[in-house]
Amino acid sequence: MKRLLLISIFLISILACAQTSTSSNNSPSTSAVTVVATVSPITSLVENIGGTKINLNGLIPEGTNSHTYELSPSTVTLLSEADLIVANGLFLEIPTLKLAAANKQPDAMILKLGNAVLPESEWVYDESFPEGGHPNPHLWTDPHFGIKYAEVIAKELSRIDPDNTDYYEGNLTVLKERLKDLDKRISSAMETIPQDNRKLLTYHDSFPTFAPRYGLETLGAIQPSDFTEPSAREVARLIEQIKQHSVPAIFGSEVFPSPILKQIAKESGAQYIDKLRDDDLPGKHGDQDHTYHGLIHYDVGIIVPALGGDPSSLNEFDTNVVFDGNSPAVYPE
Ligand SMILES: [Zn+2]
Repeated sequence: MKRLLLISIFLISILACAQTSTSSNNSPSTSAVTVVATVSPITSLVENIGGTKINLNGLIPEGTNSHTYELSPSTVTLLSEADLIVANGLFLEIPTLKLAAANKQPDAMILKLGNAVLPESEWVYDESFPEGGHPNPHLWTDPHFGIKYAEVIAKELSRIDPDNTDYYEGNLTVLKERLKDLDKRISSAMETIPQDNRKLLTYHDSFPTFAPRYGLETLGAIQPSDFTEPSAREVARLIEQIKQHSVPAIFGSEVFPSPILKQIAKESGAQYIDKLRDDDLPGKHGDQDHTYHGLIHYDVGIIVPALGGDPSSLNEFDTNVVFDGNSPAVYPE
C-alpha cells in the first residue's frame, strides 16, 4: 500500500513537471502580463522586449491598411482582456483606439508610442499628411525612433511587472545595440548611392524621418492624403517631376497595389519597385526576419540597389529576435 502511494506521488510529480515545462515553452504563466499591440512592427518591438515573459497578441493583420482597419468582434475580446494596449498613436489607428477606449479594463493603459516620443511641436506634416490634418504617423520606419519606442515599451512593462524588470531591460539593451548596428549599416549603404539618385518617391508616404536621416530627398508621395488614387492631372505632374529629377526608381507598397504607379513608371522611364513595406513584416511569425529590425533591413535592401547603390553593408545583419526561446506572441493573419 505504502509502495503504491509512493508510486502515485511519483507519477503526480512527473505530471506536474510535464505541465510546468509545456507552459514555460509555449506561454508564460497565466498571471503573466497580457499585452495587445496594433500594427506588426510595434507588435514585434513589444515581443522583442517582453520575450517569453508576456502574453502578446497583435491586432491588425499584416498586409491590411492600418489607417482604416476595423477590428473584428473577436479582436474586441482581446482588447477587453489586456493589461496593456500598445499603439503607434499620432492618429494612425483611429478605429482601433476608439474600440480600445470603450472596451478596455478600467486600469489598462493605452500606450501611444508616437505621442510619447515626439512632442506636438515636432510632428511631421507633408503632402500626404498636410498641415491642418493629422501628422505623418510613420516614425517606426526610422530605427532611431524604433529605439525610442522600445525604451517606452520596456519602461511600461517594468512598471506593470516589476519582477521581470531585469529581463525587459536586458532585452532592451540588446535590441538597442542591434538597431545601432543597423543604423550604421544603413548609413554606409546609402553613401554608395550616387548623389543625384538620392531621391525617394513612394506610393504611400511612410518614410518622413527615415528619408532625411539617411540623406534621401523625399519627392512626395503618389497616394493622395485621403487614400484614393491621384487625379489624371496629378499623374501628369508626377511624371513630369520624375523626368525632371531623373528619378531612377519609384516605390510601391505591397499593402496598396496601384495600377497608376505602373503607368507613371512606364511613362516617366523610372523603374517600378512594388515591394516596400511599412507595417507588414517580411516572412511569417517564427521566421528569422519576421521582426521589426528585419523589416527595416528588408526595405533598405530594396531601396539601395534600386537607386544604384551597393547594399553589401547590410549583409549578415542579425534580423532575429533578441531574446532566447520562443515567445507566445500571436500575429493575426
Ligand atoms: Zn501607413
